[in-house]
Amino acid sequence: MDLTPLCSFPEDCNRLNRSSTRSDTNARRLKPDSGLRTKTVKRVLSIDGTFDYDLAVIGGGSGGLACAKEAVNHGARVAVLDYVTPSPQGTKWGLGGTCVNVGCIPKKLMHQAALLGESIHEAVSYGWQIPDLDSIKINWANLTESVQNHIKSVNWVTRVDLRDKKIEYINGLGEFKDPHTIVATLKNGSKKELTAKHVVLAVGGRPNYPDIPGAIEYCISSDDIFSLGHPPGKTLVVGAGYIGLECAGFLNSLGFPATVLVRSVPLRGFDQQMASMITNEMEQRGVNFEHKTIPLSIEKLESGKLKARWLNTQTQEQKEDVFDTVLMATGRYALTKALNLDVAGVKCLSETGKVIADTEQTNVAHIYAVGDVLEGRPELTPVAIHAGRLLARRIFADSPHQMDYENVATTVFTPLEYGCVGLSEEAAIQRFGTENIEVYHQFYKPTEFFIPQRNIRNCYLKAVAMRAAPQKVLGLHFVGPVAGEVIQGFAAAIKCGLTMEHLMNTVGIHPTVAEEFTRLNITKRSGKDPNPASCCS
Ligand code: FAD
Ligand code: NAP
Repeated sequence: MDLTPLCSFPEDCNRLNRSSTRSDTNARRLKPDSGLRTKTVKRVLSIDGTFDYDLAVIGGGSGGLACAKEAVNHGARVAVLDYVTPSPQGTKWGLGGTCVNVGCIPKKLMHQAALLGESIHEAVSYGWQIPDLDSIKINWANLTESVQNHIKSVNWVTRVDLRDKKIEYINGLGEFKDPHTIVATLKNGSKKELTAKHVVLAVGGRPNYPDIPGAIEYCISSDDIFSLGHPPGKTLVVGAGYIGLECAGFLNSLGFPATVLVRSVPLRGFDQQMASMITNEMEQRGVNFEHKTIPLSIEKLESGKLKARWLNTQTQEQKEDVFDTVLMATGRYALTKALNLDVAGVKCLSETGKVIADTEQTNVAHIYAVGDVLEGRPELTPVAIHAGRLLARRIFADSPHQMDYENVATTVFTPLEYGCVGLSEEAAIQRFGTENIEVYHQFYKPTEFFIPQRNIRNCYLKAVAMRAAPQKVLGLHFVGPVAGEVIQGFAAAIKCGLTMEHLMNTVGIHPTVAEEFTRLNITKRSGKDPNPASCCS
C-alpha cells in the first residue's frame, strides 16, 4: 500500500512511507479517572537543575508538537501531554491533534474523493471508456477505512518521532496543580506529576453544540463525520462557516443530499462577493441553503431518522424536515476548562475559554499559548505550527522573531475552492474608503473545463489594491480549481510588498488558472465586462 502522506508535519512525511498502520487502540478503550495513585516523573532535571523539564507542552496537536520539537533542537528537556476526550457520540483518536485526526487531513481526503467522483464522469468526454456511469457510487465504508488507515499511520509516526527526539510523551489529561506543576491523569486513572520551568498551552478546541433539545444526544460534529460507521445519508448541516460549507460540499458531491442552515451569512468575515460565488456554485450542484435560520430542535423518530425544526428569523416562519444525519458545525470553543488555569493565575475568556496573549505570552510570564486556544488568531494549522516554532526559538535561542498574524493565506475546500490572502473588499473599503481602493476583477474558464463543457460561471478572481500608484495589493481572492495551490505563492508576494504593477508585469504560465492573476486589467470602477473574450486574450 502506498502511504505517501498528506501530513501536517512535513519532516515526518518520509518516515510515513516506512510506517505500519498501527493504531493507538489503548487510547480508544480507556478513560481517565480521578483519585488514584500519583507518581512523580523520574527526576532527570532540566537545564538549570530546578525543574523536571525546561518545557511542558499541554496539547500534542499542530502547535504543541511544533513547539516541542523546536525546543529540543535548542537543547531543552521537553514533555508533551496529549489526551483526547471522546466526542458526545464516543469518537476518539490518537496523537497529533485536530488537523491530523478530525480536521484538515481527513477533510482534504474526503474533498479529494468528491473531486474524483466528478472526474470519473468528465473522463468520458476525454475518451475514457467507462462501462456503466450510472452505477458509479461511493462506498462509504471503504472511504472511511482508507482515511482512517492514513490517520493511524500518521499517529504512529508522530509517536515514533517524539521518541526519537527524546521528547517525553505523556498520554494524559493535564491540569495545573500550581504555576509550575502539572498533574496528568493517565488512561488507567493514575496520576503523574511533573514540574516545568516554562509551560505552553496548546490544547486547541472542540465543536460547539447549540443549546437546543436533541443537539448533544442525536447530532454529530466534524469530530465524528470522518469515521462515521454508516453512510451519512440525507444530512442537515447547521452552520455556514468553513466546516459547514466544506462538509456540505463533499457530502453532496459524494451523493448524500445536504441542507445547510445559515444563521447570518455564509463565511462571515470573508469577502462576501466571493462567499456568494461558492455558495451559488454549491446550490447549482444541489446543496439546499436555508438562509437566516436558527435550529430549534432535533427529535429522534421511531424509524431512527432525525426530525429537525428551524426558524427563519426574518419571516418568523418555522420549517421542519427529516434527515438521516444532523451535523453541528457551529464554531469551536477552547479546551481550557480542564486545565485548572485559576491555580496557575492564567486568565481566559469565560464564554469561549480562549486565552488572550499578544505575543503568545499569557498574563503569567512563564506560561504561553499557541494555536486555536488563542483569542483573535486564525484557527489554522500552519498558524499554530509557525507560532509554536517561533515561540520555542524565543524561549530557548534568544530569537527576537515574533509571529506575524497579518496576511495569512487560507482556502475553503468547497467543491469550487476559494483561496484568499489579505483584506476582503469590504474590509479594504472600511479601512481606506471607496475612493482610495481599486478592485481588479475577472471571470475565467479553465482550459480543462471546455471538453466536458462544464458551464461553471463562478470561476472568478479579484485583486483589491490601493488606488494610488504604485497600487499596493491589499488582498487577493480566487474562486476555482486548486485555489490553495494558486494563492500560496501569491501570499509570499504580498509579504514582499506586491503592487498591481508587479502583477501586470509578471509573465504567466500558460495554460494555468494561476496565470489569471497576471491578466487582471479590468477595474470594477470602469464598469467594463469582466467576462473573458477568449482563452488567449
Ligand atoms: P489541536 O490540533 O486541536 O491540538 C490540541 C491537542 O491537545 C488535542 O489533541 C487535544 O485533545 C489535546 N488536549 C486538549 N486539552 C488537553 C489537556 N488538558 N491535556 C492534554 N491534552 C489536551 N486548518 C487549516 O489550516 N487547513 C484546513 O484545511 C483545516 N481544516 C479543518 C477542518 C476541520 C473539520 C477542523 C475541525 C479544523 C480544520 N482546520 C484547518 C483547523 C486546524 O485543524 C486547527 O487550527 C489546528 O489543528 C490547531 O492546532 P492546535 O495545536 O492549536 O490544537
Ligand atoms: P466558523 O467559521 O466560526 O463558523 C461557525 C458557523 O456556525 C457560522 O456560520 C455561525 O453563524 C454558525 N453558528 C454559530 N452558532 C450558531 C448557532 N447557535 N445556531 C446556528 N448557527 C450558528 O467555525 P467553524 O466552521 O466551526 O470553523 C472553526 C475554525 O476552524 C475556522 O475558523 C477555521 O479557522 C478552522 N477551519 C479551517 C478550515 C480551512 O482552512 N479550510 C476548514 C475548517 C475549519 P454566524 O456567522 O451567524 O455566527
